[in-house]
Amino acid sequence: MSKGSVRVSVIGAGASGMAGAISSAMAGACVTVFEHRESPLKKLLITGNGKCNFTNKSIDRSCYHSSTDEGFIDELLSGFNTDDCIAFLEGMGIRARERRGCLYPYPDTAESVRSALLMQAKSLGITIITDCGDMDVRECDDGTFSLNCKGQTYVSDSLIIACGSCVSPNTGSDGSGYGLLRQLGADLTDISPALTPLVTLEDLTSIKGIRCDAALKLLDAKGSVVEVSSGELQPFDGGLSGICAMDISSAACRMLKRGDRAFVEADLYPVTDDEGFMDEIKSRMRLFPDRDLAGCLIGLFPKKLINYLVHPVDTRREDYLDNLLKRVKHLRFELKEEMTEDFSRAQTVSGGVPLCDIDQHCMLKDHRGIYVTGELLDADGICGGYNLHFAFATGCIAGKSAAGSLV
Ligand SMILES: Cc1cc2nc3c(=O)[nH]c(=O)nc-3n(C[C@H](O)[C@H](O)[C@H](O)COP(=O)(O)OP(=O)(O)OC[C@H]3O[C@@H](n4cnc5c(N)ncnc54)[C@H](O)[C@@H]3O)c2cc1C
Repeated sequence: MSKGSVRVSVIGAGASGMAGAISSAMAGACVTVFEHRESPLKKLLITGNGKCNFTNKSIDRSCYHSSTDEGFIDELLSGFNTDDCIAFLEGMGIRARERRGCLYPYPDTAESVRSALLMQAKSLGITIITDCGDMDVRECDDGTFSLNCKGQTYVSDSLIIACGSCVSPNTGSDGSGYGLLRQLGADLTDISPALTPLVTLEDLTSIKGIRCDAALKLLDAKGSVVEVSSGELQPFDGGLSGICAMDISSAACRMLKRGDRAFVEADLYPVTDDEGFMDEIKSRMRLFPDRDLAGCLIGLFPKKLINYLVHPVDTRREDYLDNLLKRVKHLRFELKEEMTEDFSRAQTVSGGVPLCDIDQHCMLKDHRGIYVTGELLDADGICGGYNLHFAFATGCIAGKSAAGSLV
């Protein structure tokens, strides 16, 4: 048991909950973590394809979406930046390695981060109660909190709610945290999937499975650009996946949820502008006079993609190269509204507790002593370690404050 005058209860033993528990205990609090699954940190194990991309070398406000932020994210990142995140894990023995700006544990295994967090919790005397079941949590008149778990009552001075979202229910993040927050009187904005594939009206079975570099623009019905992204694109039968598609999915879902139409324009040859592409194709046609149009594209795109791009282009028309240009660099898809209801392939959510409802230490402004962290907050990051960074940052800051060390 950790010794300390302040009693802190953490509900949810995920990334943000464990960070909150550890930083609270390091600040001297007596900490108990309640986890409704049989083991802690199950989601962490599947992050970054099992490698756990836990932060990024370059991190700022533009890496996050939130419709309720009034300066919280800027302040959070200035109090907990990339170096702080590395130092937090390094303090438990995790050496970091970097790949294209993304930071991973040196052994490239999420398991190593999980083990280090659990060993740190153990040496700080943090109690972790697993299989805690449905908890009855109440605010008492004297400002403390009573938590009923397995027939036993626990009293605490501060409460950190770190239950994740409704994404990945098999890891324990099953949406039950939203009910708990509502029961305690917190407001929530609408939840929709984020970092999820884009579902298109067009069936893309013919190019399913290919990978290519792309630059994407998310457009509204008037053709105005709402958001841009670039990276690897991976079409599947129902639409577009890959990092660049997932990165604009949060904004796309929010548009569709409002009832707006949303379109994606893909530039499948982002290494040059339109003129550069036209010059390249014309020079290839001169160089390979015996090849057809598809043959001239060999070496630029995968074969399946060439067939898809060239098939509707009528080479008997005078403007056929303009049509090819349109398909290669301005390929447009309309997105389906149903993608806003499908959380099964999402990595996180947009929406949650409004950031304007919490103070700079993640405490609910209207509920003294109740802190909210991680995915339960209305902020979602793009791909690249930004969501775990947010989870660790909010956990560490809430933990310290809950222990009384920041007040
Ligand atoms: C497949 C996948 C890959 C990802 N890869 C990355 C990546 O590489 N980099 C990155 O930055 N982000 C990644 N993420 C996102 C990242 O995992 C989350 O943003 C982060 O884990 C959120 O932390 P959290 O503490 O808010 O929630 P979680 O990690 O989900 O933890 C919540 C915990 O609370 C418990 N819980 C829930 N409800 C209750 C309750 N009522 N009572 C008690 N316990 C409860 C859950 O069982 C769980 O243990 C990925 C997500 C997924 C799904």
